[in-house]
Amino acid sequence: MTARIIDGKAIAAALRARVAQRIAGLGFRPGLTVVLVGDDPGSAVYVRGKDRAAQEAGIDVRTIRLPAATPEPALLAEIDRLNADPAVDGILIQLPLPPHIRTQAIVEAVDPAKDVDGFHPLNIGRLAAGAPFLVPCTPLGVMRLLEAEGVALPGIRALVVGRSAIVGRPLVALLLAANATITVAHSQTRDLPEECRRAELLVAAAGQPELVRGGWVRPGAVVIDVGVNRRADGKLVGDVSFAECAAVASAITPVPGGVGPMTIACLLENTLTAALRRRPG
Ligand code: NAP
Repeated sequence: MTARIIDGKAIAAALRARVAQRIAGLGFRPGLTVVLVGDDPGSAVYVRGKDRAAQEAGIDVRTIRLPAATPEPALLAEIDRLNADPAVDGILIQLPLPPHIRTQAIVEAVDPAKDVDGFHPLNIGRLAAGAPFLVPCTPLGVMRLLEAEGVALPGIRALVVGRSAIVGRPLVALLLAANATITVAHSQTRDLPEECRRAELLVAAAGQPELVRGGWVRPGAVVIDVGVNRRADGKLVGDVSFAECAAVASAITPVPGGVGPMTIACLLENTLTAALRRRPG
């Protein structure tokens, strides 16, 4: 079998166009503020990408750049100001933060109604309880890919490799809400290849370059690769050994061009969701 390559770029473009169309029909422009503390080059690139995509969708996006030495109380005061600003529907604090700032204190300071990253404990709790509101963008992107591909989730035997707070755990909750039967693997899992071979849907989010081998994949499985890793030779690869697994799976995401583009598209979707909840009608 040769797998169908899932075109994340095209699916993300379609989602962005749907969000833009919906925004064009509103009587207002949703507001998104991105807060970037310090000068991490990777973060600066991500923030520029988010800014451009949000503008294209008709979102009123602003980036607040603060120096790396910003004291935690000053950042908290900035978040309070954004929480109180009626024109701001979504607040995104770009992570990682400088080490002198307590990340969890900052995440918890954002108004849960404006928490477009879906990291606030209230939104995590809503998702865990089966009543999601704002959901972390990468796992939401995986769900949107599966929807676009028409993967029938009820009863499917799914394996999620990875249990981080931003990818694995929320994805487990979303797949469960979609009635999949789920196994979660992590670094202590005894026999990962065997767990993988049972899965009809295999999602790899382990941060380990090309961890999943072709011989681990059940013939005909759908394989979603969340990983983004730089190999020693400089090549960008996922958590899945692409060529080997594509020979066995029925559908597979590439890296890059699979899950990655969905993350920003889902940030736009979350901004729209937050705006509609805050300003109904
Ligand atoms: P993370 O916080 O490092 O979590 C990795 C998870 O994988 C942990 O739960 C860990 O288990 C598990 N794991 C590590 N090695 C393993 C192994 N050999 N076998 C089985 N499980 C293993 O990473 P993350 O933030 O979730 O990110 C995962 C990957 O997704 C990374 O490559 C990251 O760059 C990528 N990512 C991509 C996007 C995107 O937009 N495309 C967004 C976010 C992340 P323990 O819990 O036992 O330690």
